[in-house]
Amino acid sequence: MENKLRTLYTLQLIDSNLDEIEDMKGDLPGEVRKLEEKIAALQEQLALLEETMRGAFSQRNNADSEIISLREKIEKYKMQQFQVRNNKEYDALTREMDQAAETIAKLEKEMSALENKATIARTDIETGKKELEESQALLEEKKAELAEVSKNTEEEELKFKHEREKVVVRVAKADLAMYERIRKAKNGRAVVPIKRGSCGGCYTAVPPQKVLELKQNKRLYTCERCGRIIVSEEIADTSAALV
Ligand SMILES: [Zn+2]
Repeated sequence: MENKLRTLYTLQLIDSNLDEIEDMKGDLPGEVRKLEEKIAALQEQLALLEETMRGAFSQRNNADSEIISLREKIEKYKMQQFQVRNNKEYDALTREMDQAAETIAKLEKEMSALENKATIARTDIETGKKELEESQALLEEKKAELAEVSKNTEEEELKFKHEREKVVVRVAKADLAMYERIRKAKNGRAVVPIKRGSCGGCYTAVPPQKVLELKQNKRLYTCERCGRIIVSEEIADTSAALV
């Protein structure tokens, strides 16, 4: 039991050190992640806009060529009207020409709508590209900052992580689950030493009988108020020497 308590407290000390290192990095990892997500979303959006723009321009060009060929047809009908033999043929050509003129008007309207669509997409692309460039520059900046902080803490972090690996295998699964649960609920501190007869986590007085029992390191005690695991000063002192 004594070893179990010591191991748990050692794990707590290591985790507290790792938490401290994470605090030093501040929100940089989060900021880097958010920027990366933003950049990916922007790139996707830009790709869609370019597709829209290209599609609209190509549809506009198609309409344009169709108008040219319809105009050529109208010219041809005009020439044919000089050669007709009767009114019936003449009228038939007039109808063809009217229909072609109608189609041209419709296509011209479509062209202007497509032109408009493409222009809006192009403006959005320009704005999006600017935003993308700014976000990429900011990401580089944040990454460099994070690399700088990480460089300074890397060695310590590795050392604690390595120690954690060695300690964690000595903790029973159920105990580890309990430890992680309390740690999560109690701001990272699951195991605390008793301090002048009080819980080192919430400073609630521990009943005198329990204080005496705690000293014997024979049981796992949790604080009645905050639920943290309380260990004796002796366990705390001897564990601290290990980390
Ligand atoms: Zn407590």
